[in-house]
Amino acid sequence: MSVRIKTPNLDEIFEKWKQKAARKDRKKMEKQFGTKGAVFSLDAISAAEYVKDTMKEAAIYFAVKKSLGPAPTGKEENLVMAPKVGREQYYSFKGAGKIDKEKWKGDEKVPHFESIQTVPCKNCRGKGYIDDKCKTCKGTGKIEETFTVLVGEEQNKEKKPFSYPCGACYGTGNRPEPCKECGGHKNMYKYEVLPVPFKTVVTGVPILHSSAQTKYEKEIGDDLHKMIEEVEGIRFSDFKELESKAEASLGYMNKNISKTIGAARSDYKKHEKDKDAQITSQIYLFPMIQMFCETKRGSKFELYSLGSGNKFMTYSNF
Ligand SMILES: [Zn+2]
Ligand SMILES: [Zn+2]
Repeated sequence: MSVRIKTPNLDEIFEKWKQKAARKDRKKMEKQFGTKGAVFSLDAISAAEYVKDTMKEAAIYFAVKKSLGPAPTGKEENLVMAPKVGREQYYSFKGAGKIDKEKWKGDEKVPHFESIQTVPCKNCRGKGYIDDKCKTCKGTGKIEETFTVLVGEEQNKEKKPFSYPCGACYGTGNRPEPCKECGGHKNMYKYEVLPVPFKTVVTGVPILHSSAQTKYEKEIGDDLHKMIEEVEGIRFSDFKELESKAEASLGYMNKNISKTIGAARSDYKKHEKDKDAQITSQIYLFPMIQMFCETKRGSKFELYSLGSGNKFMTYSNF
């Protein structure tokens, strides 16, 4: 058996909004609804005069808990020469525990100090230099000369070879050249730009689908989420039941409401499948009244009510 929920009447909604708006900003109310030269009174502001159009709609609400964890994933690797490795700003989270994302100042991915690794240079196989033949001695290690020697009494000229170690390569014949890749530092250095280890925070998120064509759905949802205990709706444990009883419960139905129920149902299924989400409430169906209003000064605003005649909330962009 379905219980029909009583929709609040327009005067009650308007009255509740009026009191709330006056508490928030009485001067603005006076400016928008007052009469010049007359004492301002809230009593003179009536729904009959200022509500131009009304729509009977419906809204579906459920709450979801979502894990907002370390948002960014994946890593980026940089390979640099020795002098450049110190030019980076490193961060360390060793033993620091998880980081509160709200308090973190800086990028979500940063170079981690502990990720620095030594990588032997591939070009010189970690030696820092490349062996090359000595250019001075052409790789022989010796400087070869020919002396002209005057021999005997006759002093006949005779050519005699003479050699000594090459001074450029210390007689080895090799002349190492600094490796261009590592600049002679033997190694390259690799470090990783990794996500900051943020704490996983579980937050409650309101999900609201309404049949009213409104750009304030998010704001209405947030307000409703805060005061869900004070607003009366009809609760369902699944969409099958909601669909079969929606019209009888509301006492009215329209195309947009049917569409909204369909959209809410697929959204609900999506959250059921989401590993990071958990649905934490029943499904609520609320009568929703949408009012298009205009002040005495001609400013247009919208007024909404969600809930039953006994317990409802109002939202307005006034
Ligand atoms: Zn040499
Ligand atoms: Zn090298």
